Amino acid sequence: MKKLVLASNNTGKLREFQALLAPLGWEVVPQVELGVPEADEPHCTFVENALTKARHASAHTGLPALADDSGVCVNALQGAPGVYSARFAGEPKSDERNNALLIEKLAGETDRRAHYVCVLAFVRNAEDPQPIIAEGEWHGTIIDTPRGAGGFGYDPHFYLPDMEQTAAELAGPLKNTLSHRGAACRQLLARLQLET
Ligand code: IMP
Repeated sequence: MKKLVLASNNTGKLREFQALLAPLGWEVVPQVELGVPEADEPHCTFVENALTKARHASAHTGLPALADDSGVCVNALQGAPGVYSARFAGEPKSDERNNALLIEKLAGETDRRAHYVCVLAFVRNAEDPQPIIAEGEWHGTIIDTPRGAGGFGYDPHFYLPDMEQTAAELAGPLKNTLSHRGAACRQLLARLQLET
């Protein structure tokens, strides 16, 4: 197995990346296991944050690194919470408070369109001049009443009209197939396969 460090400590994402990358021979190790401190995410775009995190994890470990930056962009909120999705309701991070704030901000709003975004950045080393960048989107609507116990984050409020289910109601493998992260990952894998 080839080893890469995942520049995230989110257990939900770790599970999803392990499932997606193991068939391609990659062992995905979370950065916390290798003693990498969390990187700052100072930028206002997903791609800049993902690249910053990947370079940071690679610099600390000497391994190839994969970072994702993701979030939900809500049309009626001009794309917010966007890169601030994890801490929408402030510190400490809380899915429950984030969801409550989102529903509060959308009170009385009829345009419920939203999409998840995932940008992946893969660097072969910390100074890699040509990182692989992949991007996926997943479109749905925000519903007031949460449904489902799977997934994480905004999933119980992220409704998929075609499926008549929220992201939290989908079985894990189906979520990986449909999701922004799944789409970005497929792009990344196609690019990685060209290299070997
Ligand atoms: P990041 O860890 O900085 O990329 O923050 C991403 C945040 O966006 C998460 O903490 C969630 O709030 C939200 N998010 C991203 N992807 C998903 C998903 O697949 N389901 C639910 N929430 C997500």
